[in-house]
Amino acid sequence: MIAAIDVGGTNIRCNIIGEDEKIVSSESMSSQDIGLIEAIESIISKYAVKKIGISYAGQVDDGVILSAPNIKVDEPNIQAYFLKEHGIDLYIDNDLKCAALAEYEYWECDTTMVAASVGTGFGSAIVERGKLVKGSHNLAGEIGHAPYKYSEIPCGCGNHHCIEAFCSGSALTRKIEHHRLPVGEELLQSLKEMQSDEAKTILEDFHDALSFAVGSIISFINPEIIVLGGGVIHKNPYLLEIINESVAKYALSVSREQTKIIISELEDAPIKGAALLVKYYA
Ligand SMILES: [Zn+2]
Repeated sequence: MIAAIDVGGTNIRCNIIGEDEKIVSSESMSSQDIGLIEAIESIISKYAVKKIGISYAGQVDDGVILSAPNIKVDEPNIQAYFLKEHGIDLYIDNDLKCAALAEYEYWECDTTMVAASVGTGFGSAIVERGKLVKGSHNLAGEIGHAPYKYSEIPCGCGNHHCIEAFCSGSALTRKIEHHRLPVGEELLQSLKEMQSDEAKTILEDFHDALSFAVGSIISFINPEIIVLGGGVIHKNPYLLEIINESVAKYALSVSREQTKIIISELEDAPIKGAALLVKYYA
């Protein structure tokens, strides 16, 4: 059996998957109540797990956890730990990279796919013929920190020219607070309804930075499919129209014509991708 585990800032969710690839059992626990190693050990004590795949909401490289947002990690070298202590092969990657694997399979992509996610930040993951493109330290795909234009309010990374400084949930929040704009819960919708110059500029910059990012991905990677996901995209599906209207000015036309741009419709992509980590990398 395989344990496919999704580790988020609030919950650790697990699907136990049998030899026939069907889910045998599922469980969920709060990541506030239990450390990561302890949680996984409680799962493998109940099921005859042979391999583990983990989708992790943080930075990971080569089986080692490098950042631990909101969860206790007693042993960062988690892959080596489970092999040594339990004789179990464990595969772990960042949640967006896992989601990209699941999207690649779901959309039956054959060549190159980019999964781009606009939520609090703006990230992307690249799958090339079924394998994740990782870069030297598993940081490939940080499209949000590619340079776009100068922003007075810096990006979360400290730089002033990042795409993410214009096009992300965190950038919207920072700019809205800076200009003291009276917005509702749906930030983009609120900005659309406002007449002030500041609101118009924030909205136009958001739209333009998104088209710039997608155009850059098209020209640089030449993907067969770009799948857009993340909370901001799902709450504002009109953004796909904005991209389709204006991406041409940023993308190589021949590559643009060949790229399908779609919004993700796959539920639970990260945990599905955690199982695929085992399938593709074992
Ligand atoms: Zn940045």
